[in-house]
Amino acid sequence: MSESTADLRKLRQQMRLMKEEARLNESLLRKSQQRELDILTAGNLRELFKRLTRGLADSFAVDQVTLVLCDPDHEIRHLLIAEGGAGKTAPTDVKFFDALTGVAPQYASLHRPWLGAYRTADHQLVFGRDPYASIAMIGLRRQDKLIGSLNLASRDPDRYRRGLASDFLAHLGVIASFALENTVNRARLLRSGFTDVLTGWHNRRYLQLRLAEELSRARREKTSLSCLFLDLDHFKRVNDEHGHHAGDIVLAECAHRIDAEVRSSDVAARYGGEEFVILLPATEVDDAMLLAERIREAVSATPIALPDDEPLQVTVSIGVAGLRPADEEGDNKSVGERLLKMADLAMYSAKSSGRDRVAQAE
Ligand code: GH3
Ligand code: MG
Ligand code: MG
Repeated sequence: MSESTADLRKLRQQMRLMKEEARLNESLLRKSQQRELDILTAGNLRELFKRLTRGLADSFAVDQVTLVLCDPDHEIRHLLIAEGGAGKTAPTDVKFFDALTGVAPQYASLHRPWLGAYRTADHQLVFGRDPYASIAMIGLRRQDKLIGSLNLASRDPDRYRRGLASDFLAHLGVIASFALENTVNRARLLRSGFTDVLTGWHNRRYLQLRLAEELSRARREKTSLSCLFLDLDHFKRVNDEHGHHAGDIVLAECAHRIDAEVRSSDVAARYGGEEFVILLPATEVDDAMLLAERIREAVSATPIALPDDEPLQVTVSIGVAGLRPADEEGDNKSVGERLLKMADLAMYSAKSSGRDRVAQAE
């Protein structure tokens, strides 16, 4: 065989290898584009969660992918319930927490994806299953704030070694954060309106609108406007000891008991997680105090029945404030804020003097 024939053969061989590599790269690129498209086009939260967990686990051929989300007001959980569908529970690979501290040490600083060895003590809550050998945790952000992470786990200790290039994972984190924000917004929009699904009460947006109206009316008619700020006591314990579902039942039942004491001319709204606000048009503070006391009693009178637990004794702390808008300085917006603030502060003083009580603003 002449030297030139051998060279030619070597060259051909090299060409083949290069072509093969290009094909592989192209298929990898196509695959990763498809993955991103899948994430970005999920139509609802449940679908997005499925694509981010099981979908990515299949596509990357890793042992488990979980999604950790910080959801302090339980909003995402409720949006998910409102979407309905499969069993009405969240996919098990999606883990919700009220705060990220204490879930895994990596959350203290997850600016870049974290790759390294799995440690049961550190990562148990993130995966909630078998111990793995190596993991990657990719931070998810909303307006620069860490709101959770996407977590990949492998039984292969070399799959996610410290120091491996992680740009591609960081990119995936950006895509996932974007998709999450979008899908949450869409879900909110779909069921926003002015009602709260869990309690059937009006929501905070509605309260803000009515507050402005009631202030104008009270100013015109020179009447008082009173406000009750209610916050369930030690509600976190209910969730921690009996679960989120029991917490929801307790919340709905409390709302129901409170509602029974309120007149139809009053404006009652679920203000936040376990906080309610009631506006009482044409009502003096003394009368508002009496109503608050009746509500406090109604909430604590009988323990609340739970599906698979002992009935639960629940109490509420209530702050009461009132003012005559005609005598107040400032526009409706600032007077309204002041009224809410006063009632909120009074509620805090009810908490600090022992809970299960009513306090009047100074
Ligand atoms: P405090 O007596 O000082 O008010 O104690 P707390 O435990 O009630 O206080 P905190 O405000 O810290 O806790 C409120 C908890 O309510 C935190 C959150 O997990 C829970 N929560 C908020 N919204 C919901 C909801 O819609 N459903 C359920 N189940 N829990 C909720
Ligand atoms: Mg609270
Ligand atoms: Mg509370």
